Amino acid sequence: MSVKPFSLYVHVPFCSQKCPYCDFNTYATARIPELEYVSALGREIDKYASDPRFQGRQIGSVFFGGGTPSLLSGEAIGRIVSSADARFKIVPGAEITLEANPNNTSLDRIASFRQAGVNRISFGVQSFSPERLSLLGRDHSADEAERAIYAAHEAGISNISLDLICGVPGQNLGDLQQDLEQALKLPIAHISTYSLTIEPGTPFFQRQERGLLAMPSDELVAEMLVFIPEFLEARGFFRYEISNYARPGSESVHNQAYWIGDDYLGIGAGAHSYCGEYDGGILRSAERWSTLALPDSYMKAVVDSSAISWRERISSQSLKFEFFYVGLRMMRGVSKAEFCARFGEALDAVYGDVVTELAREGYLEVSADGIRLTKRGILVADSVFERFITPEVV
Ligand code: SF4
Repeated sequence: MSVKPFSLYVHVPFCSQKCPYCDFNTYATARIPELEYVSALGREIDKYASDPRFQGRQIGSVFFGGGTPSLLSGEAIGRIVSSADARFKIVPGAEITLEANPNNTSLDRIASFRQAGVNRISFGVQSFSPERLSLLGRDHSADEAERAIYAAHEAGISNISLDLICGVPGQNLGDLQQDLEQALKLPIAHISTYSLTIEPGTPFFQRQERGLLAMPSDELVAEMLVFIPEFLEARGFFRYEISNYARPGSESVHNQAYWIGDDYLGIGAGAHSYCGEYDGGILRSAERWSTLALPDSYMKAVVDSSAISWRERISSQSLKFEFFYVGLRMMRGVSKAEFCARFGEALDAVYGDVVTELAREGYLEVSADGIRLTKRGILVADSVFERFITPEVV
């Protein structure tokens, strides 16, 4: 097992309403069972404190995701942070992120989150246009988003991120530019941009099936995906991952830990965890597992037994593939030295042929140190990743 600090993810599966495009493990509820849920999280933390995979290791970053974690009180967030610190020790100054919706984040509430240890907030803004907020079923206005971001700034949180969605029905390039311009007027250090995807089982999926959702053309979405980095990079934000932009020094520590394949422990309903198994410093295999998705089942199961719903072993071959394709999502790419240190094998020996082919086609850039996607490769990243899939990792 590794002795490096691990990342802690805390899933809060509650929202005030369900957005019609969302397929996350989250449930609309008028009343959050805060006490019961926080006590279930505390039990999980206690349990993992004596798990040999995590025992004695520190926590390098904490991320409250959801759902809408900002629906919890500052006191509840503080209790979770304190028990994680008491059981493991959170590295001093570690990044502690809270995902927040703009409409339940007054200055007082954000100050209470700050008091609880939160030093980074990620707001689900999605758009500043009333039409698109309404189409996306968001229950906040553009004014509320702006007020929430200023409140976070006033509360002393300097690392503020916001999410924007592009490729929304009816949106053109000018609309996207307005959203980005509006975002950059605010005191933020980080932006995540996603293009709208229609997930099976969502109301948007049904609307699309019935021909009631006029999605923008692939050409327009591709134009947007080229426009976003050009616009943001000309204004002091650098792209460090396919969908993420930061002012220098404000990259998300927690997300980077996922992308470089470090261990993470997920607690809460439907949270995923990952832990590598090393032999002589070489990653030989790993385990991934998840807790029960339904909050009530999770809370009941945690009391007297394990709340694990499934677990799987990951082979060395799959780990190499994951390290490679997740690493390629980062603009710095995959380091040949890091690959070799982790797997005890040269990257060229594992993927040399396909890398040479993709480089010749203009999708990858290869240097003596590593491999990264070219601008052309970023636009068709998923197809590039598919080229690395071998029968062993299917
Ligand atoms: S607020 Fe976020 S997590 Fe909750 S339903 Fe909407 S998109 Fe999903």
